[in-house]
Amino acid sequence: AAAASIPEFDGAGRLADGHPVELLANIGTPDDAEPAASSGAEGIGLFRTEFCFLGRETEPTPEEQAEAYRRVFESFPGRKVVVRTLDAGADKPLPFLTDRTEPNPALGVRGFRTADARADVLRRQLGAVAAARSACPDVDVRVMAPMIATAEEAGAFAELCRDADLPTSGVMIEVPAAALKAESILRAVDFASVGTNDLTQYTMAADRELSALASLSDPWQPAVLRLVADTVEGAGAAGGKPVGVCGEAAADPALAVVLVGLGVSSLSMSRASIRAVSAVLRSIDLSDARRLAADAVEAESAAAGRAAVRVGLPALD
Ligand code: PEP
Ligand code: MG
Repeated sequence: AAAASIPEFDGAGRLADGHPVELLANIGTPDDAEPAASSGAEGIGLFRTEFCFLGRETEPTPEEQAEAYRRVFESFPGRKVVVRTLDAGADKPLPFLTDRTEPNPALGVRGFRTADARADVLRRQLGAVAAARSACPDVDVRVMAPMIATAEEAGAFAELCRDADLPTSGVMIEVPAAALKAESILRAVDFASVGTNDLTQYTMAADRELSALASLSDPWQPAVLRLVADTVEGAGAAGGKPVGVCGEAAADPALAVVLVGLGVSSLSMSRASIRAVSAVLRSIDLSDARRLAADAVEAESAAAGRAAVRVGLPALD
């Protein structure tokens, strides 16, 4: 549909039959918060905190951090903000946290793994999030850890969050091992958010930044979708914990339908994509989304899955 004919997003994501799907925004810095709020996003599903401090030689003080987080929270009174703890390393090195001599940084000490040697940095960050949360008590603040691979890591993160008086903790599912062990991981935390960018990279063993591998680095790859399905199933078995998606896949309207059909309950994306995703979701019932999701998971290839779903979604044309 021509952009002009897509209705404005009214702040409540849902399918044609009324099934709710939270539509959230991804942001990187406090300056992104107000534009995201005015776009009608129901909240922030991924606040990439490392973007606030890229290029910094030294760790930002707890006061500086709390100020950055508070500026974001202030734009979302009464709404949800998911703060991701520093995802330093690989494509986003932070000089005060990242060893730049690693031979293979994507498989190195990145994300939550940095807390092995530097739990103090994570503790200070969680303390700063808690301080900002106290200043904005009407915001539903949640924290989540990137690059979780095991249930032990998830449990360790949840404990650090409790120590910091942050009651709601979650993890990103972006390592295939975590998708396969989602049930035990989700027993330790309250929610999961699938990072399809890294989940695709690690499932397909294809560098997400290498355009020569673009056809492998495709979240429509049935193997990736199978892992999303496994994650939702594990989260269900762990007591019905919610699973969202915050990778680029959530911004592709046809793939958004598939993800919802697989049982994902929230989608977080750049604010510019929310309107188009909302419009397509509103064109379809949950039963049809489930059928299209099954087609995409069972497809012989990413291209075949994409084509099959497209045929089932006349609203895309
Ligand atoms: C992801 O990996 O899908 C994700 C959302 O995190 P990032 O892109 O910041 O690695
Ligand atoms: Mg990631």
